Amino acid sequence: MLLETAQLLWKIRKEQWLSPDILEDIQQERLRKMVGHAYKNTRFYRDVFNRCGITPQDIKTKEDLATLPPTTKSDLQDRFKDLIASGYSTENCYVYNTSGSTGTPATVLYDPYTKAYTGAEDYVFMFDVGYRPWEKIAYTKRKPWASHPLQALGIMRACHILSSLPEEEQARLLQEIHPSLIISYPILLHSIARAARSEHYTVHPRAVIVGGELLTPQVRSFIEEVLSTSLYETYATVEFATIAKECSHHNWHIHSTRCLVEFVEGKILVTGLINKALPLLRYEIGDMGAPKNGLCPCGRGYPMMQILEGRLGDLFILPNGREIPPLRVFKTRLILDSNVAAKRYQIIQEDYDHFIIRVVPTSNFTKAIAQQLREQLVEDLQYPVNVEIDEVDEIPLIDDRKLRVNISRVKKNHCEDSV
Ligand SMILES: [Zn+2]
Repeated sequence: MLLETAQLLWKIRKEQWLSPDILEDIQQERLRKMVGHAYKNTRFYRDVFNRCGITPQDIKTKEDLATLPPTTKSDLQDRFKDLIASGYSTENCYVYNTSGSTGTPATVLYDPYTKAYTGAEDYVFMFDVGYRPWEKIAYTKRKPWASHPLQALGIMRACHILSSLPEEEQARLLQEIHPSLIISYPILLHSIARAARSEHYTVHPRAVIVGGELLTPQVRSFIEEVLSTSLYETYATVEFATIAKECSHHNWHIHSTRCLVEFVEGKILVTGLINKALPLLRYEIGDMGAPKNGLCPCGRGYPMMQILEGRLGDLFILPNGREIPPLRVFKTRLILDSNVAAKRYQIIQEDYDHFIIRVVPTSNFTKAIAQQLREQLVEDLQYPVNVEIDEVDEIPLIDDRKLRVNISRVKKNHCEDSV
């Protein structure tokens, strides 16, 4: 596994600088193979192809994929066994579960090659943001994972900080460990950075990698300022590991030779090109995005994407049936962010016309800000809803690491939790 990861690391490191045309050829070749594999080895896709009256030979390019219907999270939950390719099982694959904090949890399999491949991609990213193998990495995680054999030789030493510890303690441990790279979640790390500042702990990693939630500009600049570092985001899901990563020019590059990403009416559909254990064609991830055209000055040939919705949580559904995506209440959040008026907050739709803004206030929170919030939310929603402000002492993170900012209780919706 280690040798395979090292070889893949070398290959992927070079691959990212190939021209877009060459990368597209690699993608197309892998697409054809995966479509053929999915048809031949899974009952689910055989059924889908037969129902649509097409054969794998009809899908030669990514444009041809449009003849297939998207695969949904419900398909993964309900027909998991039919999606597993013959020859693969939970016995000979790595098994992962989506957290299910907002819906029914789903299980995902990675074959050993995919596990090595995605691991190598992560290492490439870590080296790209300036990490060196003899330095320490700190992860703020819910559970530590098994260490790898190279750690004993002082290579890629990973220190796990339990995210369930008080934020002050996590900040103190970061000062003690003195990592050159921190891997965490935006809102959790924001809280740790705030604790580091108030307790005067010195935490200055060379880089920070965060993912799993949408990062607001205010949270980004606060973390970068307090930790005097550069922050990089990843877009990852349990189903596909990391789909896209941010480069130093703040562009998101898609791992297009492993994940073919389509944007259909804003919805992100992903086709996995490597994982033979669990083929997923046009899988609807539940986030919204768009392609970004042009070439990035960083020189990478991987295509770019922009704007992600869904990571902040649920859609709001108004009495008139209008659906409000999470980013639409941006200005309401900005009032709290720009005034540093809340340690944490959530916008909760209790009923179609009744919203609660739950706030863990800082000393900057005032009655005037509360009033501004009420007015701004009505303006953002463009509907005269009733807005209640609820000041609380604490809003716990989901699994001690992530925060769902938008919560709607009026209708179960499709925005599932991702990595
Ligand atoms: Zn770039």
